[in-house]
Amino acid sequence: MSAVIVAIDGPSGTGKSSTSKAVAAALGLSYLDTGAQYRAITWWMLSNDVPIGDPEAVAAAAVRPEIVSGTDPGAPTIAVDGVDASGPIRTQEVTAAVSAVSAVAEVRARITELQRSIAAGAVGGIVVEGRDIGTTVLPDADLKVFLTASPEARAARRSGELKGKAATDLSATREALIKRDHADSSRKTSPLMKADDAVEVDTTQLTLDQVVECVVTLIEKAAAEKDGGSGRAERSAAAKAGQISK
Ligand code: C5P
Repeated sequence: MSAVIVAIDGPSGTGKSSTSKAVAAALGLSYLDTGAQYRAITWWMLSNDVPIGDPEAVAAAAVRPEIVSGTDPGAPTIAVDGVDASGPIRTQEVTAAVSAVSAVAEVRARITELQRSIAAGAVGGIVVEGRDIGTTVLPDADLKVFLTASPEARAARRSGELKGKAATDLSATREALIKRDHADSSRKTSPLMKADDAVEVDTTQLTLDQVVECVVTLIEKAAAEKDGGSGRAERSAAAKAGQISK
């Protein structure tokens, strides 16, 4: 299969992370969780007493932390200034603060640059999941998928993920999700949005396995088209050079 670049966007609780990791593992692609990067920079700001309600202070601090993402879908990692941040970035405190931090243009510019360089370095292809991957970060991706699900289904999934770790109250989870989606969709700089050429998949009635199967099929099709396209281009160049007949 060609080295495809796949963008998977959508709001929280649609199964983006589970789907993206599973399809990347199934197809031997790298995997990048861009939400983890925004969470990591937010955790660093909170830990370093940057007032996250002050966009100018956040903008000024945005260049300081070094964020490193490991892209193995079987064991993705995230480190800030050399410290493993995979636990602390999932706390309620970070979840409540991340939309304000990720709305700051300087933060997005820094993280977007990092994401593009990781995607460019993934020679075997990569699945990148987030909110603005298809629209802003990788507008030339070989395949763009936009996952959706009803607010009820999303809240139920998120509550399930949080079980044992934090509050599992369904209506509180639903409210928090809706609030974060609203903040992410209404910000000025690259809001959460479906790209015009993205394939929308409503996961409300689907199991994870069904979503994975659907996205794997879409990726294989995109890869075949890419192979066919480049094959055609090579054949036509060769034909022009008199190497083969049409
Ligand atoms: O996907 P996850 O819920 O971990 O994302 C956390 C937050 O990071 C989102 O609510 C959003 O504010 C931000 N984010 C973003 N752009 C992305 C990925 C995540 O703004 N590409």
